[in-house]
Amino acid sequence: MSPAVATRVVLAVDLGGTTMKGVVVDETGREVADLERPTPTAGVVEALGDLLGELGSVARGQGLTPVGAAVVSPGSVDEGQGVVRYASNLGWRDVPLRDLLEPAVGLPIAVAHDVRTAGLAEWRFGAARGSDDVVLVPIGTGVAAAVVSAGGLVTGATGTAGEFGHIPVVPDGEPCACGQRGCLEVYASGAGVARRYAARTGSVATAREVVARLGSDPDADEVWAEAVTVLARGLAILTLLLDPSVIVLGGGFSHAGEALLVPLGAELRDGLAWRAPPEVAVSRLGDRAGRVGAAVLAFEAAGLGDLVTAWPTS
Ligand SMILES: [Zn+2]
Repeated sequence: MSPAVATRVVLAVDLGGTTMKGVVVDETGREVADLERPTPTAGVVEALGDLLGELGSVARGQGLTPVGAAVVSPGSVDEGQGVVRYASNLGWRDVPLRDLLEPAVGLPIAVAHDVRTAGLAEWRFGAARGSDDVVLVPIGTGVAAAVVSAGGLVTGATGTAGEFGHIPVVPDGEPCACGQRGCLEVYASGAGVARRYAARTGSVATAREVVARLGSDPDADEVWAEAVTVLARGLAILTLLLDPSVIVLGGGFSHAGEALLVPLGAELRDGLAWRAPPEVAVSRLGDRAGRVGAAVLAFEAAGLGDLVTAWPTS
């Protein structure tokens, strides 16, 4: 007997440098269970297999039937082959994740890039819904982008499209860990703002604390203004190159709200002399986006991609 329709679920894992966040998602898009584990310093593939196995056991314990799985990874990912080409945080090079995990887990498994997958979710169910030309820019410790152009996610020839944080926007600027100088994320990221504030003042503060000091601390004002200017310059480049209808900002930076959006909107307008800027919106799915997108890919891997078209929007 085939399982009743409502019992089919997928297992989705968002693999980060420090934690692995797993969820069980049913075919209506509801998260029915979640598990989080620290990312080990060695044996990450085995730990992923174990986490997927645990998620599967939890699902079966609730009378649910896992039909597919997905793992989203940072770094450079060949989604067609299911191979993580390079992930510096994990020390990975050419790891055939899909081929390693499928026999262990016994389910079809999709392997995808974390930021692109978050972009997929925001595009289908969130702030960029209904548009064929979208850029999602999560700004956290670092900066990346998921690009949707002409109704399709752009992966690039080597799986590294969207490295927005490493566009060198400041000539002869400060060095970046990537080896270039003047990269966007050196100035306009959580880590960048915190580091630059500490360098000016000698006192340690997170980007969130720097934002809280705006208007009362000239150093905070200066560092934030530089971050906004650099980000606006980067978004102007994206706009001129891709002509998106909406740019969706995510990550911790987007929580700054008006302190970010108001000056950013003004500087983006000023930076685009001959055309109107696109709408700049804040992510609706937040840090759930990666897991939601992974669940979509898992249902697609199971040959059940049609199910997700009925999922609720945010
Ligand atoms: Zn860089």
